[in-house]
Amino acid sequence: MELKIEWSRTRRDLFLKCPRAWYLRYGYPTYSSGINEEQTSRRPWDLMLRAMKEILVERLEDLQDGKQWSPLLLEHQMKYSLQKQINQTPNGIKKRYFEALLRYANHRFALLWRCRIIRQLEQKKYACWYVLDRTESVSIGNQRIYASPDLAVLIQNKWHLIRFDMQGAPKKSTDECEANMMVLWAKNRDGFPQSESSFRLHTIGWRRGFWHTETFQPTEHSVEQSYKLLEYDCKAMLEVHRYGHSNLAFLPLATTEKTCESCSFRLRCPGGVNLVIARQEQTLLELEQQFASSKT
Ligand code: SF4
Repeated sequence: MELKIEWSRTRRDLFLKCPRAWYLRYGYPTYSSGINEEQTSRRPWDLMLRAMKEILVERLEDLQDGKQWSPLLLEHQMKYSLQKQINQTPNGIKKRYFEALLRYANHRFALLWRCRIIRQLEQKKYACWYVLDRTESVSIGNQRIYASPDLAVLIQNKWHLIRFDMQGAPKKSTDECEANMMVLWAKNRDGFPQSESSFRLHTIGWRRGFWHTETFQPTEHSVEQSYKLLEYDCKAMLEVHRYGHSNLAFLPLATTEKTCESCSFRLRCPGGVNLVIARQEQTLLELEQQFASSKT
């Protein structure tokens, strides 16, 4: 049976940074214990962002049900969610660090809640809107795509698909392509139109101290280009998967040492000890293998 590659922005980001880490996290069949390890070795900062996202979704869902959160409830929920995330780490963190993270989370969240679209939803400006589950996937061909927006809001006959990126990242040339994946996702779900012009896309991400919104108008051509990128990614992932299956030692390592520093597999990967030496050793291994096969 042919392998179904799962595509999401997180998977793609990791694949581009380090194919070996991608394989160990998502493609290695006997590495189920690695998932727990991955969860518990996340950096406290990432856990703080995860807690914020959890609170954002909960608060939006309550808003949809007509429930408003008081500042005290928000503070309590944020603290609880952050504590829950930190409890997953083996050694926890110091109280002062926890309090600093909590302050960051509350500050960023307060700014996020002032975003235009959220204010409009609070003011009940739109009658039809949904909070969506980012873990819901759609199947396209032989790929499973995780590209759900966080919010879908119907504004004057157009569906505005909105994604919140908690992890701040500089602008990339592929931002529009990645945003278009939300259209691919929606077109493969019941209840959304098929025409690209019926959508408008927004990504709201933290950059340089502010929440910035990027807006894109998808077209048939731009969505088609995005699908080609997705197919290209999935093909490359499939190749790495096959390669890793036959010999883990030859899987490409990280492009920069920075990736290794926060990698949950660093303790059992030569790249985690010294990426430069690990790369040299890998090249030698490859040469040895080429030499051996040329003699047979
Ligand atoms: S330690 Fe570095 S090279 Fe090894 S899997 Fe992690 S990111 Fe990749």
